[in-house]
Amino acid sequence: MGSQRDCTWILGLPGFRVVELIGDQTDASGRIQVRVERQGPPRYPCSGCGRRTRKVRSARDRTWDDLPWAGHAVTLIYRQRRVRCRHCGIRTEQVLFADAKARVTRRLRQQIGVDCQSMPTSHAAVRHGVSWGKARRAEQAFLADWDRTRSRRQPRHLGLDEIHRGKGQHVWTVLSGIVHGEVMGLRRDRDTATAPTLLMTDLTPRQRGAVTAVCTDMHRPYLNAVTAGLPKAEVVFDRFHVLQHASAALDEVRRQEFFRAGPVMREHGRGKRWLLLRRWKTVRGAKRTELQKLFAANRRLFKAYVLREQLDRLWTSKTRPGVLAFVMGWCKALRWQRLPEMERLGDFLLTHINGIAAYCDHDVRFGVVESINTTIKAVLRRARGMRDEAILLLKLKWATAHPIRSARDLLRFLTAQPQYSNR
Ligand SMILES: [Zn+2]
Repeated sequence: MGSQRDCTWILGLPGFRVVELIGDQTDASGRIQVRVERQGPPRYPCSGCGRRTRKVRSARDRTWDDLPWAGHAVTLIYRQRRVRCRHCGIRTEQVLFADAKARVTRRLRQQIGVDCQSMPTSHAAVRHGVSWGKARRAEQAFLADWDRTRSRRQPRHLGLDEIHRGKGQHVWTVLSGIVHGEVMGLRRDRDTATAPTLLMTDLTPRQRGAVTAVCTDMHRPYLNAVTAGLPKAEVVFDRFHVLQHASAALDEVRRQEFFRAGPVMREHGRGKRWLLLRRWKTVRGAKRTELQKLFAANRRLFKAYVLREQLDRLWTSKTRPGVLAFVMGWCKALRWQRLPEMERLGDFLLTHINGIAAYCDHDVRFGVVESINTTIKAVLRRARGMRDEAILLLKLKWATAHPIRSARDLLRFLTAQPQYSNR
């Protein structure tokens, strides 16, 4: 089976040479077992301090899955020593091509880890000839390694939001950095303890000190957490949540006007909810005619729709007095319209005017808040069976941080060199 020298060259593990190749030569796609040994004199590095020693206490064969050789799955076999180190006592020998306790080599781990970010774990497992469990552990180690070694950013603006997940409607709280559009923390629930723990454990004191604004909805526990944990930061109510309240009010008007007004009107308004909740500029063609017909049937609904559309212009004001004047004007237009739901919305806007107008002083990018939410939903949809919170958070961090933006980035991940010991 070729000379050992050639095989050492193909294997390409620095410091190791191939001593034996075991495999069935009649099987065109069978597994090859490659036995390797250290090059040079028999001195073995200690995993505690890295110093080499020749004092071996015991030894045991260990195996690692490695990158395939032209369709043959490869298992590395190495007789790993336990050494007597002068400084650390009895230690396992340090092996740089794999993490401690890992069952795959580091270069295979990198390949699996990168693949898992664009395909299900089960597909990546088949592609690399390992079991699902091995692939999942490799992926987690890969992501954790990336997260640990990248630089910590100090976001000026944070986002604190809830996401709904699964059929049981589990609610999770997500902490994100809005300036760079990255997920930073994740916790189950949205009660009084959730947000404070997120802010205190997932952010360093330095990161907390850098925050000037937190973009969130009007959920009371979140607001309390921000006041308590980030005294220097101001709350900015997120535009999408405000508009969500407006859409809910509009929907309530629809129910009032059509569903509680007899069977004829009810038939007229049936199945129009999503049409009504869409913005005018996104409704085209036949749908627009349908909407116009609906408005012809009920003027009050039309008025409510126009009011909701106008609310969108709130965020064009540049100053706090401007925002206040806008909301006051909006409420004035409501008078004599007999639209109690919209009036309630007006009161709601006035009570929260400070938080709504706070965007004037902080250039919060509302678009980023929504794009993070879209990414989170996409990851959750792909990761249907994911129970583990830790790996879910890592996956969300990866998906929102986009660490691979070019071919060079990809190459950097695939040829990652070991930078630390396997202690
Ligand atoms: Zn040592």
